[in-house]
Amino acid sequence: MTEFDVQGIGMTSRRTRERLIQRLREQGISDMRVLDVMLDTPRHLFLDEALAHRAYEDTALPIGFNQTISQPYIVARMTEVLLAAGPLDKVLEVGTGSGYQTAVLARLVGQVYSVERIRPLQEKAKDRFKRLKLYNIICRHSDGTMGWPEKMQFDGILVTAAPEQVPDELLQQLAPGGRLVIPVGRDQQQLKLITRLDGDGFDTQVLEFVRFVPLVSGTIR
Ligand code: SAH
Repeated sequence: MTEFDVQGIGMTSRRTRERLIQRLREQGISDMRVLDVMLDTPRHLFLDEALAHRAYEDTALPIGFNQTISQPYIVARMTEVLLAAGPLDKVLEVGTGSGYQTAVLARLVGQVYSVERIRPLQEKAKDRFKRLKLYNIICRHSDGTMGWPEKMQFDGILVTAAPEQVPDELLQQLAPGGRLVIPVGRDQQQLKLITRLDGDGFDTQVLEFVRFVPLVSGTIR
């Protein structure tokens, strides 16, 4: 992937990314496809210039509108879990935010449908996808609590903001065998993997405790 220079950061970012990837491996991320894509994805381009120098710290950072770009460990973990059962063709992401998680996903699955409720965040993310030549991302400005019914069903759904309960719409938009990775809860949030069984019903696994911004209904222009 082409490097872009933001205040000289592009020059050194691959080396700092290598350190970040090493750290993710030490924390138990083992899917080499995910680690390779993260090694190649310039996270500093998903931040405002004033914060770009902190892009390769393993931490969430503000992106405006009281929202945050997810911590790299969490991006790696959610992506790894989503992909663990085999390749995915069609994935829905709820909460585009900076677009970093979207960009990582786009290089690992066939097509990403990403919804965001805050228009200015979505516009910035779209510019970044263009700049990085990621053409398999379709964005929509909408309330992701409802999923994206016109495009269902999805092999995978990844939610990057936490509802108090799993929205039924998201469950219904999963293809049989499809996987939903979602943080759930208010103060104490759990990251869950919900699989739609081939027959009837769903299987739920709790992965770990996490902290995400809340999933909020409605949209902001
Ligand atoms: N993966 C993003 C995370 C951004 S934070 C990143 O790493 O940059 C979560 C995002 O979810 C925010 O941008 C927030 O506006 C968005 N969000 C919250 N509730 C939403 C909803 N109901 N529908 C769509 N997006 C939502």
